Amino acid sequence: AAGLGGADLAGWIRHAARLVSADAERLTRLDAAIGDGDHGLNLDRGFSAAVEAVDALPGDAAPGKVLIAAGRAIVSKTGGASGPLYGTALRRAGKALDAATTVDAAGLGAALRAALEGVQELGQAAEGDKTMVDALIPAVAAYEEALAGNADLAACARAAADGAARGAEATVPLQARKGRASYLGPRSVDHMDPGASSTALILRALADAAGK
Ligand code: ADP
Ligand code: MG
Ligand code: MG
Repeated sequence: AAGLGGADLAGWIRHAARLVSADAERLTRLDAAIGDGDHGLNLDRGFSAAVEAVDALPGDAAPGKVLIAAGRAIVSKTGGASGPLYGTALRRAGKALDAATTVDAAGLGAALRAALEGVQELGQAAEGDKTMVDALIPAVAAYEEALAGNADLAACARAAADGAARGAEATVPLQARKGRASYLGPRSVDHMDPGASSTALILRALADAAGK
């Protein structure tokens, strides 16, 4: 597709909710190893609420409105550190899209960058702190590199998903410096960060939705 409309972004949120639900146990296991074992449950609850919120919107709602509604629902329904962070990411992405009726490749890239900036502003995590930021930074970088090479929206989104997956893998040897996992100090090493892993999942869902 040349661009994504509000219905396509609602489709992304629904698909992300399905992937999160299918992987909730795995995410919770990752969090049990270096946190408090609730990440899968938190996100499952948050994305279910996001689906309800986007389902309640009119079918012709603008892409930005869809993401803002999803983000608000996630902030209000998701416990833990990840709820406010993912909620902020979606709201910032929605704001960046403004009132546009379709999102093109450049617009989606700007929205992803705004999401990353929102997460870093709120959580103050830098690259290498073993958080979702470690998936988001390479995702945004890969997206922008693909865009600079004139890739279309679907290919840019695939590049972002691949970048996030690599970033999540790369959190395994890191020691956590933010969030609950940081309380473990060196014992946080040799585990994948749950939030980085869920970010990779959510961006895989975006690539799937953009490829339709
Ligand atoms: P909690 O740790 O409160 O139980 P979750 O288990 O839902 O919340 O989410 C944990 C994830 O949140 C971590 O794996 C990490 O990716 C992310 N996270 C925690 N703190 C921060 C932060 N300050 N900045 C970015 N991401 C963070
Ligand atoms: Mg947790
Ligand atoms: Mg918790």
